[in-house]
Amino acid sequence: MPELFIGGDWTSALDGRRREIRCPADGTLVATVDEAGPEDVSAAIGAARAAFDRGTWPHTPAAERGALLLRVARLLERDRAALARAESLDTGKRLVESEYDLDDVVACFRYFGALAASDGGGRIIATGKPAVDSRVVHEPVGVCALITPWNYPLLQVAWKVAPALAAGNTFVLKPSELTPHTAIGLMRLLAEAGLPDGVANLVPGTGTGAGAPLCADPRVDMVSFTGGLATGRRVMAAAAATVKKVALELGGKNPNIVFADAAFDTAVDHALTAAFLHSGQVCSAGARLLVEDVLHDRFVDAVVAGAERIRMGGPFDPQARTGPLISAAHREKVEAYVAAGVAEGAVLRCGGRRPDDPALRGGFHYPPTVLDECTAAMSVVREESFGPVLTVERFRTEDEAVALANDTVYGLAGAVWSQDTGRARRVASRLRAGTVWINDYHPYVPQAEWGGMKRSGVGRELGPAGLAEYQETKHVWHNLAPRPQGWFA
Ligand code: NAD
Repeated sequence: MPELFIGGDWTSALDGRRREIRCPADGTLVATVDEAGPEDVSAAIGAARAAFDRGTWPHTPAAERGALLLRVARLLERDRAALARAESLDTGKRLVESEYDLDDVVACFRYFGALAASDGGGRIIATGKPAVDSRVVHEPVGVCALITPWNYPLLQVAWKVAPALAAGNTFVLKPSELTPHTAIGLMRLLAEAGLPDGVANLVPGTGTGAGAPLCADPRVDMVSFTGGLATGRRVMAAAAATVKKVALELGGKNPNIVFADAAFDTAVDHALTAAFLHSGQVCSAGARLLVEDVLHDRFVDAVVAGAERIRMGGPFDPQARTGPLISAAHREKVEAYVAAGVAEGAVLRCGGRRPDDPALRGGFHYPPTVLDECTAAMSVVREESFGPVLTVERFRTEDEAVALANDTVYGLAGAVWSQDTGRARRVASRLRAGTVWINDYHPYVPQAEWGGMKRSGVGRELGPAGLAEYQETKHVWHNLAPRPQGWFA
């Protein structure tokens, strides 16, 4: 079955191009998938434009749009096992992680379904003029280009598709070329739930072949992008030519700050998940451990011991606790960061070389790696390696911890560990990041906004602001008793 979804039809790429999708855990062929080129993208934008300009979806009552999203949530639950398996084959991540991701996808559709249904129809403005009805209403932005990465393929798609639909937009989705299968599955479910033809369109393809044309096309009103900083810059620059609305969710280099009075075992346990969950391929990964000097030796010893116990393996290996990196090229990039860190004076405490286990040779595995005695000048500390690499820096005072934590161009997330509530809240309020955890790491809920300060992005996903991203605001002033003004009389 062809994999491009345009105007309600499944079609093949016009130039016949297909891409092999291989499981990064062992290199086996998962499937080949149509790869969209610029002409396919143009057709998809045309379908989305027609569905927006002449279709019913933008004018469908918000409560009905919400009801459709709730139907999609139920279909996702029905197909949870198959979608989770597809996600694990594309990404190599453990099946249990894909299952959790699917639960989050369902929660996202439920949240935006309910939020759409609660739309009050606008805000009435008190003008002081009894003959004037003045109200502010929300309308869809138009045709949205949705561009997503490979680390949480369906979840990142859901964070965009659910609010875009809730607000009444039409869209063209370009998932990562490495992990298209669950996005394809979602399109089937949207159609099954009764979404009108042309509202949802899918163009699996590369960044240059499909992503760039989406950002440049004048018929697109908004680009919502999740991915790396360098690509985000290109997306923003391309969108500038036609002044598209832009929402960007970019990278992070997130600090995990541990004070000496932290609950030791819990903080160690969370430092491991902060850094090594999904082999560190998480935008909010706690990749920079900042630890109070007096606690440093004991804490880092315990983190290293924990990291060495993490077993690598494929998605369906019940013993495995972490999966591979996404590609050979990505593993080489991570290796280069570790080598640069060591060359600049970091102390390699564990990991740092590919596993010897012959069973892992077909995949792109790389072990949890701890680099101690790091400084803020090192590239491995400053830049996002997006792998299982934890750098350790020491601090002596609260001010020093905050200064180190904020010494980054990014501002996505961070955590502070202390049993002194006053100090924990003080530090949390001084961190320049879109999400801060106190005595925890990684949890999020769809009701709360997610996004970055500084170069971690522009705008927010999830929460009420996540819906507002996909809405235009319009003030309608209705004079119920118009009379000549006589200004030029
Ligand atoms: P990437 O920037 O390489 O690619 C992201 C998407 O952009 C892909 O679909 C890709 O094909 C597309 N793309 C590439 N070049 C393009 C271009 N010129 N124009 C338009 N689209 C283009 O990122 P990635 O490697 O897929 O994902 C990892 C990055 O994503 C990390 O930096 C991570 O921090 C970030 N991320 C951020 C969040 C967040 O919520 N802030 C969430 C997940 C991932």
